[in-house]
Amino acid sequence: MSWLPTRRPGPKSQEKREVPDGIWLKCPGCAEILYRKEVERNSWVCMLCGHHFRISADDYISILIDPESFEESFDSVVSIDPLGFVDSKPYPERIAAARGKNRHNEAIVTGKARIESVPIGLGVMDFKFLGGSMGSAVGERIARIADLCLEEEIPLVLVSASGGARMQEGILSLMQLAKVQVQLARLGEKGIFYLSIICDPTTGGVTASFATVGDIILAEPNALIGFAGPRVIQQTIKQDLPEGFQRSEFLLDHGMIDAIVPRAEMRATVGRILHHFWDSRPARLDRP
Ligand SMILES: [Zn+2]
Repeated sequence: MSWLPTRRPGPKSQEKREVPDGIWLKCPGCAEILYRKEVERNSWVCMLCGHHFRISADDYISILIDPESFEESFDSVVSIDPLGFVDSKPYPERIAAARGKNRHNEAIVTGKARIESVPIGLGVMDFKFLGGSMGSAVGERIARIADLCLEEEIPLVLVSASGGARMQEGILSLMQLAKVQVQLARLGEKGIFYLSIICDPTTGGVTASFATVGDIILAEPNALIGFAGPRVIQQTIKQDLPEGFQRSEFLLDHGMIDAIVPRAEMRATVGRILHHFWDSRPARLDRP
């Protein structure tokens, strides 16, 4: 075989070797292979079918608010392991692993920001952090950002993406539902506007508490929104579920949410709604 020239890698195979992992994405909506950078430029929405990818809290914040307007707060509020909970792994190990993969240390990021120049208190959940589960730290951060909104009389915007209460903190997680509801009721009493944005997926205790009690509730297209998952319901009632059950469009038809807003229009839409309330807010009278 010596008469054959020595094989050298051609430009094509060289190029292939240099392609880093993750440069392409498969769209769960249409199964097409997409160029990741292009999807990112399109606010993580498929250019072909409009599928909204699940994104991190940081990505959502940059899409939603005025550039450079976010000031994070309450990031020192973190979960401990009050029950000494162990399943297949101890709970502190699960938290440490989630922190290793995330820039943030909890399943929600809170702080002050501006949308179309209106100042707001903001909380954005991150499904990639332990399934966006609500433990005591998540509940406490929401309670504190609501306090800040009460103090400064600015609207509250919460973005949900969560599997529900955090099982590893047991009853302490469930108590967050009531705590957050009390805070939202206080906002309501003072006439402070609360806007809820629901992303895919939002289920369990988060649906059952703050996600579905906004003065206005917006959802992303085709987001799964429910309490128990469809499989559990189907097995319980032993009936076929209607087409599109627990998706944004179904909830809109049944009066559970106010509007479905594509991600690319979210900032402008939220800005318009906020201005409606902000510009017409009553002047506060100082009473003794
Ligand atoms: Zn697609």
